[in-house]
Amino acid sequence: MPISRMDLADAGSPEALVTRILQAEPELPVPVPIQELCTRLGILRIEDLETGEFEGGLVTDAKRSEGTILAKRGGEPRRRFTIAHELGHFLMAHHVPDQPGRFLCKSSDLLRVTAKAGDQRQRREVEANRFATLLLMPPHLLRGAMAGFREPDLEHVLMLARDFGVGKEAAARAYVHYHPERIAIVVAGNGRVQRCYRSLAFPDIICAVGGPVPTGSLYHSTQHRPSRASDIAACSPDLWIDVKRDLRAPDLYEQVYLQQNGFAMILLRLEAAPEETAEERRLDEGWRHRFHSGRR
Ligand SMILES: [Zn+2]
Repeated sequence: MPISRMDLADAGSPEALVTRILQAEPELPVPVPIQELCTRLGILRIEDLETGEFEGGLVTDAKRSEGTILAKRGGEPRRRFTIAHELGHFLMAHHVPDQPGRFLCKSSDLLRVTAKAGDQRQRREVEANRFATLLLMPPHLLRGAMAGFREPDLEHVLMLARDFGVGKEAAARAYVHYHPERIAIVVAGNGRVQRCYRSLAFPDIICAVGGPVPTGSLYHSTQHRPSRASDIAACSPDLWIDVKRDLRAPDLYEQVYLQQNGFAMILLRLEAAPEETAEERRLDEGWRHRFHSGRR
């Protein structure tokens, strides 16, 4: 692994940094050897973080001459993401910690994908997450892995998580982002919507974060087996999205993967309403005309 800090020159954004790393390491294997990359890039040690309040940390100086990453003990995929996130703080010189020389990040920081306008702290957490995601799931390798997938399926998310050594939720976010179809993944915990990830063309999800998973969802079926993705089934689209009354409802499909810890992923796939045939349109318009003019 020949990469060094020299290769990163003045790259400052997550995208520019990961581009330089991938240029210097064109044969980077998956799972990406994150600890080895850290060593090459100026991290002296990776130590266990003992406090329960924080998920990760970084001890370094303003010049970033060297650093120590702290990561909570736990599942390997989660720890790998934390280490990559802290490496992101280390390499982005414009990231200024709350306390001099010490970044401390909570689990909510490691899930953050958007920042409030003007909130520098949130912004730097979003950037560190984008860096970690791009580095652990390099776009060209992710596209290559996804090229063989056809219909959207949560089994693919599980395969990506395993092959790239990332958590299921990180894999789900990337899957939704790169999949060509209109899909969304809702993360539910103890019956409530926790987080939603949508592809660009997927409409807003009407269920509030923190609110219950809708009663009619496949999620409430008693047939699920833990750690196995369910069959894919059609559902009523107005459970999840706003269906305009005067338009034909699109077809919406659900698939559920129940974890053992009370968490679940719900995959939503939207299919555009099929084009009306000319005959259907003529009948429909004729009916509306009669309705509005009071003739039956
Ligand atoms: Zn952080």
